[in-house]
Amino acid sequence: MAHRINDDECIACGACEPVCPVECISAKDDDKRIIAEADCIDCGACAEVCPVDCIAQI
Ligand code: SF4
Ligand code: SF4
Repeated sequence: MAHRINDDECIACGACEPVCPVECISAKDDDKRIIAEADCIDCGACAEVCPVDCIAQI
C-alpha cells in the first residue's frame, strides 16, 4: 500500500514534502509534488497536512 497525489488537484504548496518520514516526496518541474510509491510506507502523514485533500491511499 502507498499514497498517491492527484496531480490535477495539487496546488504545489509543498506542505506534504517535509512531513514524510522516509523523504519519498519530491518536487517536479512545475513544483507540484510526487510520491515515490515504491518507497512510501503508507503512514498517511502527507494526506493529513494537504490543504486540498489531494493525497489518497492507493
Ligand atoms: S504516506 Fe507517509 S511515507 Fe507515504 S508519502 Fe505520505 S508521508 Fe511519505
Ligand atoms: S500538500 Fe497537497 S497541495 Fe500541497 S504540494 Fe502536497 S499534494 Fe500538493
